[in-house]
Amino acid sequence: MSVRVRLAPSPTGNLHIGTARTALFNWLFASANKGKFLIRIEDTDKERSKLEYTENILEGLSWLGITWDESPIIQSEYISEHKNAIKKLLDLGLAYRCYATETELELMREEQKNNGLAPKYDNRHRNLSPELENEFKSSGRESVIRFRIEDDSIISWDDLIRGSMYWKGSDLGGDMVIARRAPSDEIGDPLYNLVVVLDDNLMRITHVIRGEDHIANTAKQILLYKALKLTIPTFAHTPLILNSEGRKLSKRDGVTSIIDFKEKGYTSEAMANYMTLLGWSVPEGMTEIFNIKNISQYFRLERVNKSGAKFDWDKLNWINSQVIHNLSNDELLQEITPLWNKNNWKAFNKEWALDLIGLIKPSMTLLVDGVDQSRPFFEKPLLNQDGLNQLNQEGAKAVLKVLLTNLEQTQWDGVDINIAKQLLKVSAESASVKKGLLMKTLRVALLGQLNGPDLLTSWGLLARAKQDKERIKTCL
Ligand code: GLU
Repeated sequence: MSVRVRLAPSPTGNLHIGTARTALFNWLFASANKGKFLIRIEDTDKERSKLEYTENILEGLSWLGITWDESPIIQSEYISEHKNAIKKLLDLGLAYRCYATETELELMREEQKNNGLAPKYDNRHRNLSPELENEFKSSGRESVIRFRIEDDSIISWDDLIRGSMYWKGSDLGGDMVIARRAPSDEIGDPLYNLVVVLDDNLMRITHVIRGEDHIANTAKQILLYKALKLTIPTFAHTPLILNSEGRKLSKRDGVTSIIDFKEKGYTSEAMANYMTLLGWSVPEGMTEIFNIKNISQYFRLERVNKSGAKFDWDKLNWINSQVIHNLSNDELLQEITPLWNKNNWKAFNKEWALDLIGLIKPSMTLLVDGVDQSRPFFEKPLLNQDGLNQLNQEGAKAVLKVLLTNLEQTQWDGVDINIAKQLLKVSAESASVKKGLLMKTLRVALLGQLNGPDLLTSWGLLARAKQDKERIKTCL
């Protein structure tokens, strides 16, 4: 039987890191097993579902390099199948209408609380007499539909990540609502646990890989599979992504959606790489820097940890810098050009742009560093206090003046760095100052700061763009 897995996102928000990691594990598992990875958009929450979120989710997955097979299934298109299944469960006596009002249920929960019990539906309308049921109906009470969960049922499965799992029916909160409240001659909107079972069956899903927050749902879903006599898929529950305090990563941690990471300057390759390591470890002897396409053949769910995966910014940054350093100048230029364009920065020419990339690449961690670090090559720098102090050093302006005169006579085009070296040497000697003083002063004049990338290469770039003399002049 060939493997078919799925991601079933609800389009109620942008692609979340947890969903993206679930997608990645499913995709890797499908690739490792030469199976299919499918998508189902769970859009039955009409109020919160938005088309723009579906688009964001699909774009985010594509950005990460995750491709899917077949067209995405749209859950809301199957509502009549879902309702038919509910009808079947009602006919079989495995589901029933519950007329309890919200107020009655609230009272029930309060009483349970006062008696020190966990809140749980007490199955009060499981065996209503026909008389009482008629009374409820004729008084216009609406009803939900509940699926019977026997307290003494035992649910067990062999989880591909967590091993043997065991659940008691009595721990599942009483008979489960499978259709929302509606007039009592109608079937209300079908709810998650039932719908997932039907859709996974329809899509012939063989393995359900999802977050461990769905474990209790899995127990409920297995009961539904059995009731509907459907083939039960294999389950695997992935560990949650935790923040540094060990709590589930949430909005409070600043970034939650993939688009936030993109905007912060993380590359898609680093994100996919890092997220794969959130809970999974590479086989011994293999590097932790990889492309998901190349690693997929080694992906086994057995190597996924059971315990939560702590989100580690330092590690993500390290991976991102490694990915950036491993890009060719051409590839990095492609990533950075859109950021330059946003600032209306035009490279002198392609070769110049590539050389600038080569200069700044080693000190980049994030793609946005490529903006900060290339800024002085596109915009005249503002001098900070340290820069001004440097220019006011004894002999600084004088030697800069000598350099400018020599430079004008030489008409250096910025290409041969040896000429620049020679110019520095000769100018410092004739002004009788140390070469270091001239170099520091020149750096301030050209780049506006005392620290930064290699001076001669930077000077060469500015000279090729015909910016160097002008910058020196404004400092004199
Ligand atoms: N729509 C559900 C979610 O986003 C799907 C869970 C599942 O994979 O069954 O959590």
